[in-house]
Amino acid sequence: MASSTTVDCPQCYVRVKAEIKSWIGDAEDDAYFLSECPSCKKPLFGRAFVYRDEHNNWEWNHAERLWPIPASTEVSAAIPEAARRDIKDAQKCLSRGIYSASAVLCGRALERLIKEKSGANMIGKGLAELKTKGIIDERLFAWAEALRKERNIGAHASDEDTTKENAQDIVDFTIAIFDYVYTLTEKYEKYIARKASA
Ligand SMILES: [Zn+2]
Repeated sequence: MASSTTVDCPQCYVRVKAEIKSWIGDAEDDAYFLSECPSCKKPLFGRAFVYRDEHNNWEWNHAERLWPIPASTEVSAAIPEAARRDIKDAQKCLSRGIYSASAVLCGRALERLIKEKSGANMIGKGLAELKTKGIIDERLFAWAEALRKERNIGAHASDEDTTKENAQDIVDFTIAIFDYVYTLTEKYEKYIARKASA
């Protein structure tokens, strides 16, 4: 198999062509590779889907980093499909150093949440409504407000830039808000239902 792959380096925040030092398991299935970032020389461990091409040579695609830090943390299946896609894309942009796009995608995911839960089209108005309804509490409201502002910095031509640190925080806030509103709320409701029927 070819001896290099493109993978996102979390230390360099950029997509790199990394030399593959070794493969583990080269069946027609998931295989794991150990590679080295050409820039910072740190190890990158990942997974790829391995298959045979038309000339019967081993090939692979869908290479993704698993360590250090998985390229994308698992986004719960309880979160609606479109928002889940936005969050995953935001994570991809972040790990490739495209910070403003990452913030804009998080804002879009938040917009979807607000539309579904409050029916409002305006983020600001919808957030206030979600707080009044008790769907989000004071702290999540503050995080969502920060996210909204960062989204605006990313989306509009301004002197301010979305920094790496801010983009990372915004992705974390977004996942926390979605986990709270969808995943944990659903879990809690199931728990209460189970208690009631016991
Ligand atoms: Zn690197």
